[in-house]
Amino acid sequence: MESIYPWQDQQWNYFQRLLENNELPHAVLLTGQAGVGKASFVINLCASILCDRRANDGMPCGTCKYCQLFSANTYPDFTRIVPEEADSAITVDDIRLLIERLSLTRHYDAYKIALIESAHQMNTNAANALLKTLEEPPDHTLIILVSDQPQTLPATIRSRCQSVLINSPEHQQGLAWLQAREDSVDWKPLLAVAQGSPLLALQLQETDLLEQRNEVIQGFLQLAENSANPMDISSRFDSISVVQGIQWLQGLVLDLMRLKSDEDPVTLENPDFYRSLLALAPRLEVPLLLELWDWLLDRRKIFDNSLNRRLFVEELLLRSRQMLEKS
Ligand SMILES: [Zn+2]
Repeated sequence: MESIYPWQDQQWNYFQRLLENNELPHAVLLTGQAGVGKASFVINLCASILCDRRANDGMPCGTCKYCQLFSANTYPDFTRIVPEEADSAITVDDIRLLIERLSLTRHYDAYKIALIESAHQMNTNAANALLKTLEEPPDHTLIILVSDQPQTLPATIRSRCQSVLINSPEHQQGLAWLQAREDSVDWKPLLAVAQGSPLLALQLQETDLLEQRNEVIQGFLQLAENSANPMDISSRFDSISVVQGIQWLQGLVLDLMRLKSDEDPVTLENPDFYRSLLALAPRLEVPLLLELWDWLLDRRKIFDNSLNRRLFVEELLLRSRQMLEKS
């Protein structure tokens, strides 16, 4: 198990204090952008809560009966829901199963824990089912929701959870952490593209994610220059998660809006495309960019099968083209 990352110390200590004082809330919403290590944090947290021989810093011992059950995924009072795919929905059946397990008598003295990762991927029925349990949680239960898009969760869910945010580390701390792992890599551009998330930078370096993202952004820029073949752009979406693609496009729209008001903005999602974006920005009108932004946000909220990949890409191309023609 990865230990707690140095930029998570404050949040870790906070939970340890609550645990020591028996003050853990019934429901927690753990947020923070992708790549700050929420998943490993929350697994350590659950293990720590269940362990009966925690170290002084709160880390689980890893060897007691409870730690062993937990790491073998057989701890009976722990339920974890993870969407099957990056863009598939958490359904009402998943949540009903979770509620059923929470209603059972505890096997051990510690909490019954329900962990829902990527909680924003709950569809409406799932969220409604969970809401009832959040309103009247069974005794000795802790429900933990993890999300990098908490704004897309219903406000009624958010208001019943105690929110804890994990931020990306300061630039220097992130860079130092990456260099300590592998000092032969030039981490600066990767960390910039990863928007400061060291784990995402690591992933970019190890996989072809950066390449895919470059293709999507270049495709959009070619569309603007009228030099793209729509079929070709469409095929670039074949191998990526639509949600991931939408996220990149949202970053692109955000950058274009920033560049319209300031030629040298403090932050950019895509600093490596600065010149191309700066050239494109004056040609686009803010209301049309906002329209595209709203549409992307709307698509991102649809996580069930109704989001058809081909239709999405076709509509995206059509909208982008219209936007560029109008300008
Ligand atoms: Zn233990």
